[in-house]
Amino acid sequence: MRKKIVAGNWKMNRTAHEAKTLVAEIKAALGGFNAVECVLCPPFTSLGAVQDGVAGSPIGIGAQNVHWEKSGAFTGEISADMLREKGCTHVIVGHSERRQYFGETDETVNKRARAALAAGLKPIVCVGETLAEREAGTTFQVIERQVRAGLQGLAGADWDKLVLAYEPVWAIGTGKTATSAQAQEVHAFIRRLLRELAGGAADGIRIQYGGSMKPDNARELLGQPDIDGGLIGGAALQAASFVAIVKAGA
Ligand code: PEP
Repeated sequence: MRKKIVAGNWKMNRTAHEAKTLVAEIKAALGGFNAVECVLCPPFTSLGAVQDGVAGSPIGIGAQNVHWEKSGAFTGEISADMLREKGCTHVIVGHSERRQYFGETDETVNKRARAALAAGLKPIVCVGETLAEREAGTTFQVIERQVRAGLQGLAGADWDKLVLAYEPVWAIGTGKTATSAQAQEVHAFIRRLLRELAGGAADGIRIQYGGSMKPDNARELLGQPDIDGGLIGGAALQAASFVAIVKAGA
């Protein structure tokens, strides 16, 4: 039985000051709720505020990117050790906005995921097709390429730490959600692929859905057999909607 995992991707939103309020509200609304794993992924500058805010609760902390080198001349990047120092347990890798706006490729996604794992962070590796790719009937080819390339070289205990996120690009921030059947179809496809890559470990790997997940569609999506959580953008910026989604996973 896979424990569901819901992560809030705050993107470039919430200063440290604002984060303090949001975390306090989320923590209060969740109480000690622990039936679903909950992770907050603020911008780097708000990690400290989130670290302070979640103290004494089961809420985990994630970052939105990580570099593959330990240190050096990589202006604007951040290392896994720096994230660990701020209490991060997870890191989002290969979000479609990084692929679309910042030149992220399957190869760099793989390097980031492997570096995260080597440093003891759990990567949330994002995959997903664009609208043009879906309309061209290439969804499964795109997903297969992204999964195979993004996870290349993972072995042994890595699989237990991996989280995947299926995020159809056309559903992110658009208000258009994949139907539960559309999402389940891709999740089941990813699970089959993972069985080939990871063997028996595939049944323990959590696959989140992301793309306009909201309190009113969360229960239906999270009720699908291969949907093991959510990666939440817009709805993660308000405590009430985020907590409602987390609780819908129970
Ligand atoms: C995301 O950015 O990961 C996401 C799913 O965004 P939204 O929930 O706003 O569609």
